[in-house]
Amino acid sequence: MIQADKFGARLLVPAQACGLHLDAGDHIVTVEAQMCEQDPVVVVGGGNSAGQAALFLARHAACVRLLVREEALSTSMSRYLAVEIERHARIQIVLNTEVRELIGEDKLAAVGAENNRTGERSTIEARAMFIFIGAEPYTTWLADEIALDPKGYILTGADATRSGRPDTPDSAGRPFPLETSKAGVFAAGDVRSGSVKRVAAAVGEGAMAVRLIHDYLQAGE
Ligand SMILES: Cc1cc2nc3c(=O)[nH]c(=O)nc-3n(C[C@H](O)[C@H](O)[C@H](O)COP(=O)(O)OP(=O)(O)OC[C@H]3O[C@@H](n4cnc5c(N)ncnc54)[C@H](O)[C@@H]3O)c2cc1C
Repeated sequence: MIQADKFGARLLVPAQACGLHLDAGDHIVTVEAQMCEQDPVVVVGGGNSAGQAALFLARHAACVRLLVREEALSTSMSRYLAVEIERHARIQIVLNTEVRELIGEDKLAAVGAENNRTGERSTIEARAMFIFIGAEPYTTWLADEIALDPKGYILTGADATRSGRPDTPDSAGRPFPLETSKAGVFAAGDVRSGSVKRVAAAVGEGAMAVRLIHDYLQAGE
């Protein structure tokens, strides 16, 4: 991002290109965020992605309300980002709040929200809602076969051994990194317990897993 910024690139997050036309010799790309111009919008989430989205949308929207279910912004957001958001005149932080309802006919008109400490309900005017609430691993179908951590992420390497794999470690150097509690089954990317949740890391682990499977097969010969 820093390098792109140095060369004058504009990063638009979140934005979807939805039109292309020529204007006085320049190609103009229209992005979704421009449709929110002068409208109130809601961003749901308390992490860095939500923070970046709120700042970007605040350049266009009349008012950005950031709904956060935690009691402080700093719980899951980088400090520098939280400070910038707290100081922004058009961003309103609404803590301890969860979305309960979407209100509107053809288009969104408002968001029904609930304070998760007091139970108090409120209606927040909004023409658009952007959701950045992270993800849960889709691993329940694996739970009987492979050891998972308490949040459902797949244990690998030394962590998988600790969860009771019977045949490791052995003379071939098992468990291999990225190997699950089931010998010969590997996990890579976000679904792996302890992974850093970044594209480059997921791609790297995928490449590593291929190499490790070759090692696994060779060790078994
Ligand atoms: C809002 C947001 C912003 C992000 N920003 C950044 C960023 O700026 N930079 C960065 O590096 N990373 C970012 N990330 C993280 C990045 O997207 C992930 O780290 C990366 O996509 C992980 O790749 P993956 O292949 O492990 O998982 P995924 O990309 O989640 O791919 C998993 C795939 O498996 C499929 N799948 C799931 N269950 C099954 C099943 N049972 N059978 C078959 N298929 C299945 C899913 O449909 C999906 O296609 C961001 C993530 C989010 C949510």
